Amino acid sequence: MSTTEQRVAIVTGAARGIGAATAVRLAREGRAVAVLDLDEASCADTVKKITEAGGTAIAVGCDVSDAAQVETAVGRVAEELGAPVILVNNAGVLRDNLLFKMSDSDWDTVIGVHLRGAFLMSRACQKYMVDAAFGRIVNLSSSSALGNRGQLNYSAAKAGLQGFTKTLAIELGKFGVTANAVAPGFIATDMTAATAERVGMGFEDFQEAAASQIPVRRVGQPDDIANAIAFFAGDAAGFVSGQIMYVAGGPLN
Ligand code: NAP
Repeated sequence: MSTTEQRVAIVTGAARGIGAATAVRLAREGRAVAVLDLDEASCADTVKKITEAGGTAIAVGCDVSDAAQVETAVGRVAEELGAPVILVNNAGVLRDNLLFKMSDSDWDTVIGVHLRGAFLMSRACQKYMVDAAFGRIVNLSSSSALGNRGQLNYSAAKAGLQGFTKTLAIELGKFGVTANAVAPGFIATDMTAATAERVGMGFEDFQEAAASQIPVRRVGQPDDIANAIAFFAGDAAGFVSGQIMYVAGGPLN
C-alpha cells in the first residue's frame, strides 16, 4: 500500500461513546471509517459527523459475537471502502452482578461480545492486513481487568483481552501488524451512566465521587481514549506492539 492511499479502519461499537469519538478521530486523520454497531441505523449520527466534516464513512450493522455476521460485515467493508487494515475492537456490554447472582447468560453475553467479538473481528481482518503488509489492531481493555467487585464476567473478559493482545502482537508482528490495548479508567459515557442508575446515584454525583479518587481529579471523556487509540493506530507506532496502556488519569498496573 502506498503511503498516500487512504487506510481503511473499522471501529466496532461506534454508534456512541468511546467508539463514536474514535471513529470521528480516525476520520479526521484521513482514514476511511466503517462505523460498525449492532444496529446499522444507530450508526447514522457518527457517519453524519464524519461526512459533514469532509471525511469518508459507512454504517455497518453487525453483532461482533456472531461469526457469520462478522464475515459478511468485514467483506462488505473491503468491497465498499477497501481492505480494512486498522481494527478497533471497542464494542462492549455490561452485565454486572455479584457471583452468587450472576446468571449463565450474564457471563456468556459479556465474554461473547468482548472476547469472542474481538477474536472474530481480528480473524476476519487479519488477512487484509497480512496482504497489505500493514495492520493495526487496538483492543479496549479496562481498569476492571485488575479486579472490580460485581464485574467477574467483565474483568475476566478485559484481562483476557490483554493476553489476547500480546499474543496477536507475537503472531502478527512479522507481517507488519501491531496489536495494542487501551485500558480506560472511568469514562463518561452511556455505559457509566447506566452503572450510576443501577447503583441508584445521579450521574453527576457518580462522576464527582469517581473524580475524587482519580489523581487528575476529573473523569475521562471519550476523546481522552480516542487520542490513545489514534496513537496506536497510527503509522508512527509501528515499533510499539503488545502494550497495554492504562488511560485513567493516574497510574494503574
Ligand atoms: P457504550 O457507550 O455502552 O457503547 C458501546 C457500544 O457497543 C454500543 O453502541 C453498543 O450497542 C455496542 N455493542 C454492544 N454489543 C455489541 C455487539 N455484540 N456488536 C456490536 N456492537 C455492540 O460503551 P463505552 O463506554 O463507549 O465503552 C466502549 C468500550 O470501552 C467497551 O469495550 C467498554 O468495555 C470499554 N471501557 C469503557 C469504560 C467506561 O468507563 N466507559 C471504561 C473501561 C473500558 P448497543 O447500544 O446497541 O448495545
